[in-house]
Amino acid sequence: MDFRHTEEQLAWKDMLHRFMEREVGREYTREHDENRSFPDELYRKVADNGWLGLLLPEELGGSAADPVMYAIFCEAMAKYSLDTAACLMTSMFTVNNFVVHGSPQQQAEHVPMFLKGERRFSISISEPQAGSDAAAVCTRAVPEGTDWVLNGNKTWCSGAHLPGAWIVMLARTGAERHGGLSLFSMPNTAPGLDIRKMPTLVRRSLGTTEIFLTDVRVPAENVIGEIGKGWNYIGTHLDYERMGLAASYVGNARTALDDTIAYTKDRHQFGRPLSSLQVIKHRMAEDETALTAARLLVFNAATKLARGEKASMEVSMAKVFAVETAYRIAFNGMQAYGGYAQLPEYDMERYFREAKHGMVGGGANEIQKTVIARHMGLSDR
Ligand SMILES: Cc1cc2nc3c(=O)[nH]c(=O)nc-3n(C[C@H](O)[C@H](O)[C@H](O)COP(=O)(O)OP(=O)(O)OC[C@H]3O[C@@H](n4cnc5c(N)ncnc54)[C@H](O)[C@@H]3O)c2cc1C
Repeated sequence: MDFRHTEEQLAWKDMLHRFMEREVGREYTREHDENRSFPDELYRKVADNGWLGLLLPEELGGSAADPVMYAIFCEAMAKYSLDTAACLMTSMFTVNNFVVHGSPQQQAEHVPMFLKGERRFSISISEPQAGSDAAAVCTRAVPEGTDWVLNGNKTWCSGAHLPGAWIVMLARTGAERHGGLSLFSMPNTAPGLDIRKMPTLVRRSLGTTEIFLTDVRVPAENVIGEIGKGWNYIGTHLDYERMGLAASYVGNARTALDDTIAYTKDRHQFGRPLSSLQVIKHRMAEDETALTAARLLVFNAATKLARGEKASMEVSMAKVFAVETAYRIAFNGMQAYGGYAQLPEYDMERYFREAKHGMVGGGANEIQKTVIARHMGLSDR
């Protein structure tokens, strides 16, 4: 077993981290978090570099990078903020629904504009009464002529309000719990859509929204794949979403720990650096150990996906362990920074807020553990 990255992977990682330092940096990230504004310039640069198409096949203009290269990308993009990575990843894994299940017409309509950075995508699964129990979706789609008419209320749909955004939405087309769910797509300008931004603690740059649908008309050609297969499609979607999230927790936790190391070396109390105190040193040693383990779990899952195998269990293991590690590192960072942790210019409070959200977003920790248990043969009943 060889745990090392290949030379190509190392070069990719190195280039991405240099990009993040040169083109993004702390000030830019902080400013967008504080102003709750989308990092348009970054998104444009990523599009111009051709990175939005990492997961897409070459025949559609993508670079067909494997999930390991994608994980390295997500890890790097979260260097200063998990939200920065989410601004990119959300569209990248959502467009994949058209690529994997969509028609050639849908691919021709969406992919070129997406690759140019002119079309973004949001995923809308959650509803007020369908959170962890995502199959409880009750936004209803009813056929009418060649159209479908949608009514209901979705929530927590990140990025749906942004200019040029299309929403990929799970809606109910039948009574069967899982087999009655289908995947629709619509522009955020579709008549009957009321999209309202939510004042969340995190996801301040990407933004999260509540969506009210009143007789939203979706032409049949905007149905993704087959009616009744939505739940299956979302399963594949979630593996990529969760793997990318897990990689981004590791990337952000690395910065949080590096910041804590630097701060505690610099900060002196009682005539010595904080980093020389055993209690702080040991905490950081434990954090370094957990972070190494989290990273191995992420690349274990990514490698399995790259082999074309199902990896839901490995992805859930990586997600839950990586986010718990990121949270603990940011929590310990908050303690090590003392009062200064409260100030945005030290960044730690952002890492802390965002890691806490990671324990719920993309499927709560408890749900990841249920997925793992199911793969261990432990039933729900
Ligand atoms: C900022 C933000 C952005 C988001 N972006 C999106 C998005 O773009 N698209 C989208 O579709 N959704 C999005 N979500 C929704 C997110 O996926 C849900 O918040 C998440 O799935 C949990 O659902 P819930 O909030 O309704 O919590 P609940 O399901 O009400 O859960 C509350 C608590 O109970 C626990 N719990 C629930 N059921 C069980 C169980 N069976 N066993 C053990 N514990 C359980 C949960 O783990 C959790 O701790 C976002 C959420 C936030 C906060």
